[in-house]
Amino acid sequence: MSILITNIKSLLQVRENCPSFIAGKDMKTLPTIENAYLLIENDTIVNYGPMEDASSIEAETTIDATGKFVLPTWCDSHTHIVYAGNRELEFVDRINGLTYEEIANRGGGILNSAKTLQNTSEDELYNQSIERIKTVMALGTGAIEIKSGYGLTPEAELKMLRVIKRIKKEFPVKVRATFLGAHALPQHYKNNKQGYLDEIINEMLPQIDKEQLADYIDIFCEKGYFDLDDTKQIIEAGKKHHMPSKIHVNQFNAFGGVALAVENNALSVDHLEEMNDEDIEVLKGSNTMPVALPSCSYFLSIPYTPARKMIDAGLPLALATDYNPGSTPSGNMNFVISTACIKMKMTPEEAINAATINGAYAMGIDKQYGSITRGKKANIIITKQIPSYYYLPYSFGENNIETVIINGQIIA
Ligand SMILES: [Zn+2]
Repeated sequence: MSILITNIKSLLQVRENCPSFIAGKDMKTLPTIENAYLLIENDTIVNYGPMEDASSIEAETTIDATGKFVLPTWCDSHTHIVYAGNRELEFVDRINGLTYEEIANRGGGILNSAKTLQNTSEDELYNQSIERIKTVMALGTGAIEIKSGYGLTPEAELKMLRVIKRIKKEFPVKVRATFLGAHALPQHYKNNKQGYLDEIINEMLPQIDKEQLADYIDIFCEKGYFDLDDTKQIIEAGKKHHMPSKIHVNQFNAFGGVALAVENNALSVDHLEEMNDEDIEVLKGSNTMPVALPSCSYFLSIPYTPARKMIDAGLPLALATDYNPGSTPSGNMNFVISTACIKMKMTPEEAINAATINGAYAMGIDKQYGSITRGKKANIIITKQIPSYYYLPYSFGENNIETVIINGQIIA
């Protein structure tokens, strides 16, 4: 199966030799080819270039992209898209003045989602989750990281991870799985945090490893959830099972979690709404990707990750949705990119780099995803006819995507 896309107004994020990620000033550059073609064979990008070089190329399917932009699909490196039920009642509680912490203290929040999930069958959980997967694919997401963490018992965590594995098998979207057993302390371990950590480390992890259900390990490193010592235990346990860490950190408080993650070679540190100078300093020159989740800041009305300060300091930055029922019930990467430009003062070029190649790095798939590069997977967005790519973040809330190709398949 071959697809030839012709007359592309501008082909974006074209990188002959794509680096693993883009940092600092380089994020302001988005390499493009004007009036271009792109050739896909099966699941792979095989060629591209200026239109005048395409005259002798034949393909089974030709798509005329006159007036349209073509770019790699979004790489959403942080989601909790597998969950049961919704939390719109808490949403209204918050409108009426309750804080995130107050809702959690009332037995809401993550524990509420966990209770619902524990009582939902694996098939039902799969059916609810794939509706969201289909939605985000149509919105241009071609690779996605999905976390467990709404189970909080060995049985329910494994159920979540098996659903993720099934999605991986059944859909063309690239899926990476992260074990987030340490998302919150379950009620029955209320006064025995170490007991729960022991259960995660000694019971859940070996089984997950045996069934190869997770690529990464995660923990909610935050006041009232898990502290630095807990985080260290989880990172080290992950290492023993060959699961690098991706850490929820600095959402509400900065207390050394970033440094701990970097010291331990974490693949990413995610949230970072609260960043002090030391956090920025330790990230410099590291292999750890900082990940911002602006839809979460928007939904909770909390500060945005200080992207300007971080990029100006030379750091890379990735953008992801944090799609989850409590703090970000949206998996729309187009909204994330708009919000990053509007609220975090990222340029469109920085936001697109952050949502493609840097997102791919943050889930360990940068060799095959995140740019228009020969040999990479054919994961492609074709926009509607729009005046420029600035229009993508500018026209926030609008869907400017006409066609999505994932793994060489045209998604309806
Ligand atoms: Zn999250």
